[in-house]
Amino acid sequence: MKSHLIFIGAPGSGKGTQASKLVSDRGFKHISTGDLLRAEIAKQSALGLEVKKVMDAGQLVSDDLVIRLLQANIDLNASQYIFDGYPRNIAQAQTLDKEVLKGSPSIAVYFEINMSKLVERLTNRRTCKDCGAIYNLISKKPKITGTCDQCGGTNLVQRADDKEDVITNRLKVFQDTVDPVLKYYQDLGRLMKVDAEMSPDVIFNQISSKV
Ligand code: AMP
Repeated sequence: MKSHLIFIGAPGSGKGTQASKLVSDRGFKHISTGDLLRAEIAKQSALGLEVKKVMDAGQLVSDDLVIRLLQANIDLNASQYIFDGYPRNIAQAQTLDKEVLKGSPSIAVYFEINMSKLVERLTNRRTCKDCGAIYNLISKKPKITGTCDQCGGTNLVQRADDKEDVITNRLKVFQDTVDPVLKYYQDLGRLMKVDAEMSPDVIFNQISSKV
């Protein structure tokens, strides 16, 4: 049985880039709790309005709400998943094991990176509103300015929480909460670390060799 992957890494550490390659080349499904929450905000649902304030401040949304959203959007019998942005704390890690994976094999992948690199990566990050492709205005520019290489869409947008003051807060929240999550997977012998400053192809090969 193939393993599910659990991506752990600071915002901007390259999780989304790896996920999209694993989806296209290895048939994984990518589930990002941040994307699910942003979709709720876009729908302007009651839930979306509730979480917008929390997300715009760079804080974490409640565990209960995030797990409900996750459960409603996955089918473990049908697909092999990459969990991106979940878990963010020990309680979420335990819930994922007990209530979602229920013994299905999984490997946690930690994207290790020097925090000082991330502010620059994040302030320059742009996402295609139409297909989700990720660009960086310094290191991975679209071939035609403002146009998505992948789908030709012309909506390359900055995420609301990729502004510098919010980024600082998101990175702090990440640093304050990640260690117990890493220890949880380390103790269970399910943690793999990758150097997130290596090229995307090198990282992809490292992850691919484990699944
Ligand atoms: P991300 O796209 O993973 O960087 O997440 C963006 C924002 O969504 C975070 O700053 C949180 O406000 C919220 N969020 C995403 N995933 C979670 C989670 N597992 N638990 C709590 N909040 C989350």
